[in-house]
Amino acid sequence: MTSPNEIRNVIVVGSGPAGYAAALYAARASLKPLVFEGSVTAGGALAQTTEVENFPGFRDGIMGPDLMGNMRAQAARFGAELIPDDVVILDLTGDIKTVTDTAGTVHRTKAVIVATGSQHRKLNLAGEDALCGRGVSYCATCDGFFFRDHDIVVVGGGDTAMEEATFLSRFARSVTVVHRRDTLRASKAMQERAFADPKISFVWNSEVVELHERDGKLAGLTLRSTRTGQTSELPATGLFVAIGHDPRTELVEGQLELEEDGYVKVASPSTRTSIPGVFAAGDVVDHAYRQAVTAGGSGCASALDAERYLAALA
Ligand code: FAD
Repeated sequence: MTSPNEIRNVIVVGSGPAGYAAALYAARASLKPLVFEGSVTAGGALAQTTEVENFPGFRDGIMGPDLMGNMRAQAARFGAELIPDDVVILDLTGDIKTVTDTAGTVHRTKAVIVATGSQHRKLNLAGEDALCGRGVSYCATCDGFFFRDHDIVVVGGGDTAMEEATFLSRFARSVTVVHRRDTLRASKAMQERAFADPKISFVWNSEVVELHERDGKLAGLTLRSTRTGQTSELPATGLFVAIGHDPRTELVEGQLELEEDGYVKVASPSTRTSIPGVFAAGDVVDHAYRQAVTAGGSGCASALDAERYLAALA
């Protein structure tokens, strides 16, 4: 059990693939990491989902909560100390950093790994959470394969939305992009690729205002014109929401340098942040890939970076 007076080698904040991979590598390097897993969302995004088919090593796929349970147990097996609590304050100034938990206990450490993930933006419609994994998705790379021959709607007008629409057209019977303006924010190249795709059509100046469910699955949508307010029905069994992600950086804002779009800035390809002894991994850094395997990979890198940093202090 941790003692607040002890100075830890490394504290990991977050328990998604990045946090648990960091914990596993740090534990196997005998750094005795302390891991704050978060109270509500321990296990990260995959603990809330169903089947994961693209994490290497699981030929027949694995349920998200089982995958995260395995990662947790593997880190614990090598001595990572796992605490299902939130960090409420991180003080990253000074050689010894402090991490305050919800009980107000202050933990001291030489290194910190920030692996707090990111949150996809939702439409905030009634039934959206219940239909997540049952027609509603936020990641085409993750879920596109499940939508072969479906009629799919993609909401959004940026690069991600165009990338998702183009990717999904490989599987879908049809892809309809619903955008609330009459022009896209996506780069010209992405737009042209989407416009040239015969399976992709566009509904401009419209937003999704209602989700329809049948037998527990998405069956259609109600759209509303942002110009006239008129509503219309659109049958669809897949809805991909691609309106952006918010990296969870509340704890480090004002301390760590962030990218323009809010992700933690690292000295890529390392996981070093703007403060020595502080490393960041996973989706809180990654605006490009946002996959479990890439998060796990950067979690591994963060533990190796922390190990080298600590070795240089000794
Ligand atoms: P996360 O998994 O988001 O974990 C962040 C962690 O930080 C959480 O444990 C949270 O509790 C913790 N945390 C945050 N703030 C605090 C705090 N203040 N104190 C303590 N802890 C804190 N990827 C795939 O590769 N394949 C898939 O099939 C797939 N399906 C997905 C399905 C859904 C519905 C979603 C949302 C995502 C899916 N992804 C999938 C993406 C994948 O889940 C993410 O890329 C991955 O989980 C990112 O890992 P992470 O460790 O960076 O962050």
